[in-house]
Amino acid sequence: MSRTVYVNGVYMPEEEAKVSIFDRGFLFADGVYEVTSVLGGKLVDFHGHARRLERSLGELDMPAPVTVEELLDIHRELIVRNEVTEGMIYLQITRGAPADRDFVFPDPEATPPTLVLFTQSKALIESPAAEKGLSVISIDDIRWGRRDIKTVQLLYPSMCKMMAKKAGADDAWMVEDGFVTEGTSNNAYIVKGGKIITRSLGTEILHGITRAAVLKFAREAQMEVEERPFTLEEAKQADEAFITSASTFVMPVVSVDGVSLGDGTPGPVARRLRELYIDESVKAAI
Ligand code: PMP
Repeated sequence: MSRTVYVNGVYMPEEEAKVSIFDRGFLFADGVYEVTSVLGGKLVDFHGHARRLERSLGELDMPAPVTVEELLDIHRELIVRNEVTEGMIYLQITRGAPADRDFVFPDPEATPPTLVLFTQSKALIESPAAEKGLSVISIDDIRWGRRDIKTVQLLYPSMCKMMAKKAGADDAWMVEDGFVTEGTSNNAYIVKGGKIITRSLGTEILHGITRAAVLKFAREAQMEVEERPFTLEEAKQADEAFITSASTFVMPVVSVDGVSLGDGTPGPVARRLRELYIDESVKAAI
């Protein structure tokens, strides 16, 4: 069934949706995005995603095409029109389509941003991967230095996923100076002696909205959390590990570079956090 998507103020069938060849998202990856999950037809942590979007736009000096309230309305309208009960809403804003290709940013008055949203229906709670756990390999992190901005420059993470696939693994953790930065499209965690360890926030990683929620729930449940960089060696010797993202929630990791963690099955901390996160998110969704 064809989806109804949103492009610059208009809801239309996906087949009719078009963006200019001069769009800076297409020519320069000059754009930012957000992915918000939908549970029970409602949005999970919408305001967290909206705040990060505003920050990404601000860091790139890109104007917001609509207000947060309008953005919420568009998300909800797409959920209704596409009858989404579980899945994701993808949102992308680019610096628009000037008359020609030019490295210099166009005047935002003359070139309005491009705003695109579409839905992706998918079962998120019931997950065979969460039952089995993921295998990850390590890959050098050679991305640019502003990973805290959620830009659409996703070629390297995409290549990392392909390298993982080729190596027979599920995903990759990126490593810089011996320390794990994050997963290709998720934040990375290890558990040692009951303590949850994840890299502290900075420009080296994306400030995951799921990360913020999971750490809050963990602390509320009296679980010990340490925010600091951890090495690849520590990861291989961890009791368990997991990743978080808006589309995978909390997903256990059971091996790193072929080294099994614990008994090689999803660990108790990751299982508990996944349950906690899903329960709380269903309750708080809007
Ligand atoms: N790090 C990277 C590199 C990501 O691409 C993502 C997901 N977009 C995350 C972390 C997780 O962020 P969130 O929890 O907000 O989905």
